[in-house]
Amino acid sequence: MELVSKQIKKHNFSAGPAILPASVINEAANAAKDFNGMGLSILEISHRSPEFVQVLDEAVSSTRELLNLNDDYEVLFLTGGASSQFFMTAMNLLPQDGKAAYINTGTWSSKAIKEAKYFGSIEELASSKDQNFSYIPKGYPIADDLNYLHLTSNNTIYGTQYHDWPTTPVPLVCDMSSDIFCRPIDIHKFGLIYAGAQKNLGPAGTTLVIVRKDMLGKVKRNIPTMLDYQTHINKNSSFNTPPVYPIYVCMLTMRWLRANGGLEAMEKKNEEKAALLYGEIDANPLFKGVANTEDRSLMNVTFVMNDNTLESEFLEVCSAEGCVGVKGHRSVGGFRASIYNAMPIESVQVLVDVMKDFAERKG
Ligand SMILES: *Cc1c(COP(=O)(O)O)cnc(C)c1O
Repeated sequence: MELVSKQIKKHNFSAGPAILPASVINEAANAAKDFNGMGLSILEISHRSPEFVQVLDEAVSSTRELLNLNDDYEVLFLTGGASSQFFMTAMNLLPQDGKAAYINTGTWSSKAIKEAKYFGSIEELASSKDQNFSYIPKGYPIADDLNYLHLTSNNTIYGTQYHDWPTTPVPLVCDMSSDIFCRPIDIHKFGLIYAGAQKNLGPAGTTLVIVRKDMLGKVKRNIPTMLDYQTHINKNSSFNTPPVYPIYVCMLTMRWLRANGGLEAMEKKNEEKAALLYGEIDANPLFKGVANTEDRSLMNVTFVMNDNTLESEFLEVCSAEGCVGVKGHRSVGGFRASIYNAMPIESVQVLVDVMKDFAERKG
C-alpha cells in the first residue's frame, strides 16, 4: 500500500482545525484504506465491532493515563463541538436555584456565559474585556457557595493562557479546547474539563469531556437524553453512533503523545518552541507581542507590526516560505502563529528566520 509522504509539505500554523503529527496522518490515511488488515476501511466498520470498541477503549485509557485520572472521573467522547459544552455543562451541573461564576477571557468565554445563562444564575466574576482580552484576570475573591467556577484555559484568539490556576473553594469547569494535553495539569482542581478535538488533539468531529462523578445528579430539571452526561457514561460514549474516525485519530494522537514522553515532555517542547518565537518577537524591531507577557500562550502566539502597512507583504513572504495560517483573527489583527503539540520546532525556526530576514530587508 502506498504511504502518504511523511515529509512536511507546509508549515501549518493554523489555529484550528490544525496540525497533527505526520505519523498520525500517515496511519490514519492507511486505516482509511484498510484498517488493521481487516480488508475494510475504518470508515465503513460498525461502531459496535470489536475493532472499534478497542479503539474507543484505548482512547479512554490513554486519556486516563496521560492525566493520571482515578475512578472518580469519567471520560467521554461526544459530538456537537466545544460549543455544545457551553450549555451542556450548565444544564447538567447547575441547579435551578444554583449559581456559577465565569471568568471572561475572550470570545469563547463570552459564548459560554451566554449559553449558561439559560440554566441559572451566572456571575461574571472577572473579565479582561477592558483591554481587548490581552491578559488573564487574577486576584478576585471566589465565594464558596458557587456550584462551579468556569475558566477558558487558553484563549485561542487572543493568545493568553492560565499559567496558575486560581485558588478556589469550588470545583473548576474548564474549556481546554486549545491547550488540552499541552502540559500536565493538577486534575484534582477540576470538576469537568471539555475540549473540542480539532485544536490540539485530533480532527474536528469529537469533543473530549472529563467529568468527576460527584458533579452529576444535582439538578432536577428534565434533560433530553442526548444532552445528559449520564446517558453517555452509562453507554460508554456509544448511546448513539459515535464519531468513529475522529475518535480513532484522537486515539492515534494520544498514542503518539505517550510514545513521546507524555505531558511533561510535551510541556518542555512547547516551552522551547514558545521561547524561540516570543524571543524573536521581542528582539525584532518590526514586531510586538499582543498578550500580557506573563499570560502568553504556549499554543497561540499573537503579534502585530509596529508599521502595519507591511502586513500583507510579510504574509506573502511567509506563504512563499511555506508558512501558512499565520494571519491573525479579525478581532485582534496582525498575526497568530499556532504552535500546537504536533508543531515541530524546525517549523517554528523557519518562521523565525522569515521574520529575521524580513527585518533585515526593511530595517
Ligand atoms: C475553537 C474553540 C471553541 C469552539 O469549538 P467548536 O468545537 O467549534 O464548538 C471553544 N473554545 C475554545 C477555547 C476554542 O478554541
